[in-house]
Amino acid sequence: MNLYFGEIHTHTGLSDGRGEPADAVAVGKAHLDFCALADHAQSPDLPDFDEWESARDRYAGWREAVPGVKARWHEVQALMRANYEPGRFVTFLAQEWSSMGWGDHNIYYLRDDEPLRFASSLSELYAAVEGVEAMVIPHHTAYPLRHRGVDWAGFDSAKGPVVEIFSRHGSSETEQGPFPYSGSAMGPRCAAGTVQRALELGHIVGFIASSDGHDSFPGSYNSGLAAVYAPALDRESLWEALWQRRTYAVTGDRIRLDFGLNGRPMGRVISVGDGQPRRIEIGVDGWDCLDRVEIIKNGRVVKRWAGFDLERGGGAGRFKVGVEWGYHAFPEERKWSFSVETSGGSMAGYQTCFQPPGFHQARDSGPRRLDISSTTGGKPGGARPQRVDLDVEGTLETEVAIRNDGEWVLQASVGELLGESMASMPFGVYGGAFYLSRAVAEAHFRAELEWQDTEFERQRDYYYVRVFQRNGQAAWSSPIWVERA
Ligand SMILES: [Zn+2]
Repeated sequence: MNLYFGEIHTHTGLSDGRGEPADAVAVGKAHLDFCALADHAQSPDLPDFDEWESARDRYAGWREAVPGVKARWHEVQALMRANYEPGRFVTFLAQEWSSMGWGDHNIYYLRDDEPLRFASSLSELYAAVEGVEAMVIPHHTAYPLRHRGVDWAGFDSAKGPVVEIFSRHGSSETEQGPFPYSGSAMGPRCAAGTVQRALELGHIVGFIASSDGHDSFPGSYNSGLAAVYAPALDRESLWEALWQRRTYAVTGDRIRLDFGLNGRPMGRVISVGDGQPRRIEIGVDGWDCLDRVEIIKNGRVVKRWAGFDLERGGGAGRFKVGVEWGYHAFPEERKWSFSVETSGGSMAGYQTCFQPPGFHQARDSGPRRLDISSTTGGKPGGARPQRVDLDVEGTLETEVAIRNDGEWVLQASVGELLGESMASMPFGVYGGAFYLSRAVAEAHFRAELEWQDTEFERQRDYYYVRVFQRNGQAAWSSPIWVERA
């Protein structure tokens, strides 16, 4: 199985976001494996907003159909069709259906000629996609009920296999955990709509994350990505993987997370005899030092690994090194075109950590060179730096260097970078910077873990894995359910 990262919940100017759908897809295509725009198409039970003129204007017509999406749906269909390149980039046609009473749901379609679906209730929405190759996926589920939180009593996992557990709103896993909701008018994070509550109620549902961003920048770092294990990068393979819940959620860093129970992958419901062992195997390959890895069984942490930073890093192997650029006031907008090169070692991979504004791209030409083009600055976002993390394979002597305009502007060995980070500001005062982060040794970001459990607590137990890195980035595996054989 291959691991793919994408995001399937971006809004554009067609509803209440900014920007053109075509630009959004171009951003996604530059740094993701798959992508879907999911503009608001209808909010059937939106209030009248009698006293709020601005709200009345903003949401005019939304109870029936969001005008921009309705008018240009054929363009969205054509955009998804034109940008689908099997093996390279996968698009999905999608729309949002948001509801005060039933919560917000996105409808994803396997085919790009599907019409918009409208409904006045969740059960009507489910009926509208009956017989259609579609999935209905809820998000920001933990807002208060009747204020766009999800009432799990009405949820049907036969209509949608996964839930969006993290987005720019925060984490919906539990109301006690990190990443609280960010202070939206929809209210605080409440227990009734959390994902743990869904699991406690017995729903069989996997996890993804996606941004719910409104700036036409799919995959914006720190806003959530969906990770999918699939045999190939095409619509049918990803679709099947989503239905199998071979998926997990990350906040931003593309942490590789394997979670198996008795040799079966995440997302499965399996049978085990009374007293028979449940061998849990976890593989984590992160982008920073791991802080802790936890197994949650039936809503409770039953095993925790920590102290990864106590391990001694080796002198050879893999190292993670962050490369940043930005940090300028002048010029207001700067175009970057530079390369990152290694000598005495190679790049086993890299991850992009791009955010709006601007357009950013990283392209490898062979295992020793990464070419980066990027536009930073402008408003909003100002001098916000952009970043690529390298997965360097080598020794302490392996060199990492940045070449800009034919000049080496920053150069260091892995050994030096394990000791300290380095910056270069070759453009004068407030003119911008390059930065190499401190290196992280493999012993700190990679772990193979095993644990065994034998006890049935319920007729059907569920387990999932949670990973936190030192930099605050996190991952949540889809659960595995264990039933009595
Ligand atoms: Zn949304």
